[in-house]
Amino acid sequence: MFGGSSWQIAKIGGIPVRLHVSWFIIFGLITWSLATQYFPVVAPELPKATNWLRAVVAALLLFLSVTAHELSHSFVARRYKIPIASITLFIFGGVSQIKKEPPSPKVEFNMAIAGPLSSFLIALIFFLLLKASDGYPGLKAIAFYLMQVNLILGIFNLIPGFPMDGGRVLRAALWKKSGDYISATRKASKTGQAIAVVFMFFGIFSLFTGYHGSLWLLLIGWFLYTAAQSSYQQATLRETLNEVKVRDVMTKEIVTVNEYTPLSELFEGYFLKYGYGGFPVVADEKAVGMISLREIRGIPKERWNYVKAKDVMQPFDESLTASGNEDVYKIFERMIQEDRGRFLVMEGGRLAGLITRSGIARYLQIKEEVKG
Ligand SMILES: [Zn+2]
Repeated sequence: MFGGSSWQIAKIGGIPVRLHVSWFIIFGLITWSLATQYFPVVAPELPKATNWLRAVVAALLLFLSVTAHELSHSFVARRYKIPIASITLFIFGGVSQIKKEPPSPKVEFNMAIAGPLSSFLIALIFFLLLKASDGYPGLKAIAFYLMQVNLILGIFNLIPGFPMDGGRVLRAALWKKSGDYISATRKASKTGQAIAVVFMFFGIFSLFTGYHGSLWLLLIGWFLYTAAQSSYQQATLRETLNEVKVRDVMTKEIVTVNEYTPLSELFEGYFLKYGYGGFPVVADEKAVGMISLREIRGIPKERWNYVKAKDVMQPFDESLTASGNEDVYKIFERMIQEDRGRFLVMEGGRLAGLITRSGIARYLQIKEEVKG
């Protein structure tokens, strides 16, 4: 959902921490509103010029708080031997890229609750700092701000709508009760959507009353809604594709392209004729690569008679292939993650078929029609 650039900024306990581009916007906004609105009100005796410095410190501490929240999820996950690919910090907080589904409701519960608990703990630390900072108005104002935001972070994440932490807690409970992971995910996502609608409703309502938090309510609602919706769709997809293997969905009648085919012929005789988005390239009946419109697009038309398929194709390697035994669901996820439309299905070193996004979509459509 949140595509775009992110950079790795640190590695903590072996887990890469990445920063999404949207964070710079929110960082700027927070610093600005702290310097111009928060500090002048909470500590009017402080010199205005140095408020900018305090604002930067407070914003950085907020950033560290969000990181600690995410890391706590990751460390609990790792205790259960669930690998974490990375943590990405973006506009509304962070996302931990967990590589595997939690194996049991108990693990899911522990992983989910760790985040809000760590936020509450950090809030407590700043509360103690606040109590100890009499006579230092700058420190006091910073401590008060961080106590507040960490408290909000903890409470906000406990909202019982998937994929929020609270939604994961809810899913763990439903999962434990029914034993059905997928239906628990669907129910928790539906709850997430319902809560999001309430947020957006109040956001719109408060627009008319002039309450200045209305835009935030709308944004949070929209963010929650789309996240819950994609979780729901994912659960449904998983349910439909459960146990289905690549071999069951792939096309076996493949049209291949000889490696010496010039692009002009490729375009007229293959892309236009068959309407496919890509073709396996072969040499002596062996797959040597794949060619799609994307590769051709960059070549000027006047050179199409001279440039051959093998000159511009993606050369054969593991990133282009899938195996017949793999779950279609996993391959579909890979297609989305890597932005690919098709994979060569290899069996025993030979090209056995082609699995495509449109093929999977067709399969899903037919299954849906039979169901209805
Ligand atoms: Zn969390």
